[in-house]
Amino acid sequence: MGERSMQWQIGDVRITKIVELETTGGSRFILPQATHETVRPISWLIPHFADENGRLKMSIHALIVETPGRRIIVDTCLGNDKENRRIPNWNKLQTSFLSDLAAAGYARDTIDTVVCTHLHVDHVGWNTMMIDGRWVPTFPNARYLMGRVEYAHWTSQLEREDMVTVLADSVAPVRDAGLVDLVETDHRICEEVSLVPTVGHTRGHVSVQIISQGEEALITGDFMHHPCQIARPDWSSTADSHPVLARQTREQILTRLAGTPTLVIGTHFAGRTAGHVMRDGEAFRLAV
Ligand SMILES: [Zn+2]
Repeated sequence: MGERSMQWQIGDVRITKIVELETTGGSRFILPQATHETVRPISWLIPHFADENGRLKMSIHALIVETPGRRIIVDTCLGNDKENRRIPNWNKLQTSFLSDLAAAGYARDTIDTVVCTHLHVDHVGWNTMMIDGRWVPTFPNARYLMGRVEYAHWTSQLEREDMVTVLADSVAPVRDAGLVDLVETDHRICEEVSLVPTVGHTRGHVSVQIISQGEEALITGDFMHHPCQIARPDWSSTADSHPVLARQTREQILTRLAGTPTLVIGTHFAGRTAGHVMRDGEAFRLAV
């Protein structure tokens, strides 16, 4: 397996990354404080998470969490054929995501649970796919778990035209098919997998905790977009809807994780994607 499809084992649980898009540079719109000059001194970011010029590497990928009883996909990226996205190269994608998923052993009809850490455009796209000009559920045999708070928030934001479009093509079709379960931010999915609230990026944002055989992992979602925020938890993303709360969440979770054996798997972390949080002076670093 190359870097497009990576795996980690946490006790009895296998976690597989399926990449949709990877980019280097061009992330200033999301993390304006992460300039080339401020990133370069954070030397541990290079080469996995930034290049020698200080340009950030980022990834959009899904994480498949396979337990002895469940096949869960965490976040469904951008999807093919979607239109009216604000980022130009997120429109009308034609990636091999579904065949990559099948090649990794997870044909779409074998997925039984879809988790959306939040309802932003790059986390719900493959909820649906275009067949005969209609958006239909990509995972017809799955329950789609969405946060009750998150869902209520976005479905009331009718002035956000971009969100209305995303909800219409990537959320409403699965809701109308009766596949959505609205869940609380601390929902337990199965013995090994639970949601944990990490609010601030959005109103009802969650991360995903995996515990099995004494081993533990945390899938971040977007409470951090890039490992540079481990070194600089004060760097907020322009997509954080509550920047102060988002920063508090980062500081709190990083403090709790530092020095523990918990494997942190980043939802937008490129390359190696996962590592362990360590104390580093006043802040933290990710050991990969
Ligand atoms: Zn995102």
